[in-house]
Amino acid sequence: MSHSPKPVKKVPLHLQSAQNRVYIKNGQVVNDDGMFKADVYIEDGIIKFVGPASEINVPGGVRVIDATGRLIIPGGIDPHTHFQFEFGGAVSVDDFYHGTRAAVAGGTTTIIDFVMPNKGESLIDAYHKWRSWADPKVCCDYALHVGVTWWSKLVSDEMKILCQELGINSYKMFMAYKGLYQLNDSDMLDSLERIRELGALAQVHAENGDIIAKNAGKLLNAGVTGPEGHEMSRQEEVEAEAVHRACILAHQVDCPLYVVHVMGKSAGIELARARRRYNNRGIYGETLAAALGTDGTHCHNNCFHHAAAHILSPPLRSDPTTPEFMMRLLANDGLQTTGSDNCTFNKEHKELGKGNFTKIPNGVNGVEDRMSVVWEKGVHAGILDPCRFVAVTSTNAAKLFNLYPQKGRIAAGSDADIVVWNPNVTRTISKDTHHHNCDFNIFEGMVCHGVPEIVLVRGRVCVEDGNVRVAEGFGRFLSTPVRTPYIYDVLEGKVPAEQSNGDGKAAGGVNGGVKSLNFDALQKEVTYQKPISHTLLSSAYDVGSQAKPQSPTGLKHVDGARNMQESTFSISRK
Ligand SMILES: [Zn+2]
Ligand SMILES: [Zn+2]
Repeated sequence: MSHSPKPVKKVPLHLQSAQNRVYIKNGQVVNDDGMFKADVYIEDGIIKFVGPASEINVPGGVRVIDATGRLIIPGGIDPHTHFQFEFGGAVSVDDFYHGTRAAVAGGTTTIIDFVMPNKGESLIDAYHKWRSWADPKVCCDYALHVGVTWWSKLVSDEMKILCQELGINSYKMFMAYKGLYQLNDSDMLDSLERIRELGALAQVHAENGDIIAKNAGKLLNAGVTGPEGHEMSRQEEVEAEAVHRACILAHQVDCPLYVVHVMGKSAGIELARARRRYNNRGIYGETLAAALGTDGTHCHNNCFHHAAAHILSPPLRSDPTTPEFMMRLLANDGLQTTGSDNCTFNKEHKELGKGNFTKIPNGVNGVEDRMSVVWEKGVHAGILDPCRFVAVTSTNAAKLFNLYPQKGRIAAGSDADIVVWNPNVTRTISKDTHHHNCDFNIFEGMVCHGVPEIVLVRGRVCVEDGNVRVAEGFGRFLSTPVRTPYIYDVLEGKVPAEQSNGDGKAAGGVNGGVKSLNFDALQKEVTYQKPISHTLLSSAYDVGSQAKPQSPTGLKHVDGARNMQESTFSISRK
């Protein structure tokens, strides 16, 4: 029934059978909907038992792990990676081996990568290309999204085959990257309609590519060539406008929509507003470890390498209040998931953009550190409870991409993708100790509470005592069925939206029901930046005479009259 190639497995037999029975005792199990003391018994990669020690007779010859003082959480699901991805003349250095190895080291045991067809290329051909790169190399299970990077009858026909025979249930469209991947609204609508017909989930990269192209041209002409030009060409409202438009386009054809990498506060507000407008029906949002753990001030660093290493799209925002704000949106179900957008390039690749910021290969790390960053900035900071942490790092992604409860839950019958998490010790993130294949880490020096001490990938202990022992090719491709009930039952009115947190209604189980969005605040406007055209025209920035020769250009703060303190959007604690 499947066109997919037989995955090549390089795992020796002794590795497949070793440690096939594991008993984790004395730990605290954390799922998205509850936390309780329980022992966990695993056989052949599957969780067989979760409950009190008194209720199980553990057979002999079992590997016993003492999890006293530790949490037992579902392995992380990173729904957004780009391993071995060619972008702007370079290939990202974390391939499916190094990428999934880094993921597992950090407690993530499932990744979802993007098949990115070239314009005019068959989606199915591209899919097989990605499978042939991933299958022999992945150290943990993975699934795929497919990019709808151009539109035609052939694309539409192939989408049906991908859904029905090749395990794809989500498609990504681009509102940016003009001339490369960008779809116009008409093609977007056709794609969204098709996705709805197929019972799949639409994803968008939400930025207005036409504005970006115009601004980038103006900035380069004015001599702004350094990395700081990147965010200047794509201000917050350029992202917010596209988020708003995407939500409306999707709503018009009743297609469920998942906005990837929401990076700016105002984009997050648009997403939360749309969820409220449509009663939490059919709109979902993801933010990135990068957006939660660092900010765009680094893109103004005088060192080109440092600044360029922080370039991705949409950009990290220079407003330093962004990370906490995004975390609060996650806490209150304004956003649902965290990804990494892991797409790592080394110094020599980033240098392709020296003298022209539009040529800097886009991408940062995150697949390894996402769990620790979300714990540190979320749970340790008192914004997320541990259940919400599990929801935004694994369970919600499992539900949205129809992997639940096989993934994203500690329960009998689920895959034994498990992290024994120690919230009481710390580790310091560094490029010198990370497991990526890249020479930079955007979280360098961050001290994180929350360490994945033991990581099991389908029952196999892959991280222990600081050692990472993965098996190349051990991971499997996860076929994702269409019509995930967590989206479509709600969309079709069969069940009410799981989280009803608007208009003073109870917040249900979200984040322990402790906090909910202050929707009055959503009615107010954030303070927007002056448009770049205005800034370039004003005499205060006579860039023609001063800034042409080299980059960074010294035009550090072209955000005009913006006052970060004036943002009137806030989230209240109840
Ligand atoms: Zn994107
Ligand atoms: Zn991406």
